[in-house]
Amino acid sequence: MRIVVVSDIHGNLEALDAVLSDAARNGYDHLVCLGDVVGYGADPQACADKIREVVSKDEPGRGMIVRGNHDDAASGGGDEYFNPNARMAVRWTREQLDAETIDWLAQLPMTLVFQELFLVHSSPYRPRDWDYVTTREDALMAFKSFGQQIALIGHSHVPFHVSIGRDLAGLELHAGEHLALDDSRRYLSNVGSVGQPRDGDPRASYVIVDSGIRCIERIRVAYPIDTAAGKIREAGLPEFLADRLLKGR
Ligand code: ZN
Repeated sequence: MRIVVVSDIHGNLEALDAVLSDAARNGYDHLVCLGDVVGYGADPQACADKIREVVSKDEPGRGMIVRGNHDDAASGGGDEYFNPNARMAVRWTREQLDAETIDWLAQLPMTLVFQELFLVHSSPYRPRDWDYVTTREDALMAFKSFGQQIALIGHSHVPFHVSIGRDLAGLELHAGEHLALDDSRRYLSNVGSVGQPRDGDPRASYVIVDSGIRCIERIRVAYPIDTAAGKIREAGLPEFLADRLLKGR
């Protein structure tokens, strides 16, 4: 079984379209979204419509999507902790969304379990605090907070794979695009961002978990960044949000 996992679309329709086409070409059985469908980009309504359609078609996992902090802030949650650019974007985003979409975002679950996957936007240990999992200590705390073999996260927009033995010893960071899964280990993987990558590679990021051949594949997809950046400028959103798409930072 092949499971496509996307995260942090952030209202970037050009990036989302490119990823969905690439995933369809690669072939998959289920598609999971780790949240932040909206916020920052110029097409929040169109991205919400599209991802909602894709996830609700998916029978066994029906609507496999969890809530991100921007989805939360755009649908009635607080935005006090956002920086000024993010706060301006979230307030603009609220005005673009129809009432039904706001209701849909407001009811998204914080976490989901699907087969051997634990799915959450931020951290497995305090999903509602929107923590970033970046250090070895964070990773260790994360592994103690879920029982499945694999946890998939987003939020930082920086992809990585880390694994640990079943006895919670031997934490290891994995480089490369292809990660072969070993049944004696457990995995934590940040799938990166579709709509606003921050690891220096401006291409959209997603992963495919293949439970048949036991691997996680990290994939990057080129998309018309100039178009997405141009729409951000036209909408009057902060210039910085357009510029960072071109840099992937
Ligand atoms: Zn995000």
